[in-house]
Amino acid sequence: MYRIGQEEIDAVARVINSGQLFRIGSAYSEVDNFEKELAEKLFVKYTLFVTGGTTALIAALIGLGVGPSDEVIVPAYTFMASALAVTAVGAVPVIAEVDETLMIDPEDVEKKISPHTKAIIPVHMLGYPCDMDRIMSIADKYNLLVLEDACQAVGGSYKGRRLGSIGHAGAYSFNYFKIISCGEGGAVLTNERTVFEKAVYYHDGGAAFRRDYVGLAKGDKGSSEYTVFPIYGKFETPVFAGSQARQNEIMGAVMRVQLKRLDGILEDLRKVKMQITDELRNVPKLTFLKSNDENGGCCTHIGFIFEDENKARAFAGSPGVNGALPIDSGRHVYTNWEPIMNKRGAAHPAMNPFNMHANQGLNFNYSSDMCSRTLELLRRTVNIALNPDWTQETIREKVDSIKKAAQNL
Ligand SMILES: *Cc1c(COP(=O)(O)O)cnc(C)c1O
Repeated sequence: MYRIGQEEIDAVARVINSGQLFRIGSAYSEVDNFEKELAEKLFVKYTLFVTGGTTALIAALIGLGVGPSDEVIVPAYTFMASALAVTAVGAVPVIAEVDETLMIDPEDVEKKISPHTKAIIPVHMLGYPCDMDRIMSIADKYNLLVLEDACQAVGGSYKGRRLGSIGHAGAYSFNYFKIISCGEGGAVLTNERTVFEKAVYYHDGGAAFRRDYVGLAKGDKGSSEYTVFPIYGKFETPVFAGSQARQNEIMGAVMRVQLKRLDGILEDLRKVKMQITDELRNVPKLTFLKSNDENGGCCTHIGFIFEDENKARAFAGSPGVNGALPIDSGRHVYTNWEPIMNKRGAAHPAMNPFNMHANQGLNFNYSSDMCSRTLELLRRTVNIALNPDWTQETIREKVDSIKKAAQNL
């Protein structure tokens, strides 16, 4: 979270004064409106505001029909939640290498496809976009589903399309560490009605409250008459038992304000990154982390890649640089995904996907050196977190520190 203030306080006060904190039963629902405003911004037909990014991933996988007997390809560098969402629905994660952009490597994805593969989860890490053209064409070729984990890339885009709106479904997170936030929260994004209906059932106790919903688009996507407007429709999917991950009016009100701030935050982050990039362009010994779309990234970080780990560590630790090696980012590296590596995919042994009869013969022979190219890249990369509210003086100091650190390598 970068910005929060009086407007959020006013929005929360408005909800509390109304006495209506539940999203359902209110004539003017903050949550309904947030979902509609998010759909409009992303050019996506359906959005569902839920309690977290992990929940959004699980709801999306359920919506896509992923379950026991399915393999789902996830990158070796992502927050563990991307893989845990897969085990939560009874499927098995297959771990693929990242490439020199630190995003999932399309070539390795293709190598890891088997007759059991059902879906791919490209993860837009640190606000950088994955190579969605190649991922989507592989998915087309092998008839696979794509769930974009855009939890760290809210509002970012790839070739003009918003991240999370390109695959069959997408997931956003609004937890405290993300670009916009209400403390904890997430959203499912999809253009497919069935995916949406199933996600609604899952998040709403098996639709104890609703069997119909708001939100359909008019006109073709991308055309000038495309608008999102509310239509109430009956669900066609037969109801099934779900969980409970509904959001409330306080969070809805906060997120409506946060969403209004999003474009400004991204614009300022991009300015900061552009300025720093321009000033460092001809500095010897500095190589920028490559991006699949320089203009679309969220620019929450600037990344550099070095010849080896020693150089990366020396650079990251130089005064004023405040860099971080992704290899040190704990549960963002597959080797630290304890429940996955130890094949403890659920509390109850019979619910553990690694024990399930349907999953025997699937590819889950995990070892810590299975994605050694990823580990090698994570060891010699340095990421520096940026802030949209840095002053010119702070930017100057940062550039100077980086230049000094590079000189001393
Ligand atoms: C934050 C994050 C999640 C999970 O989001 P929560 O809201 O904390 O559940 C999933 N995937 C990635 C890549 C994340 O960074």
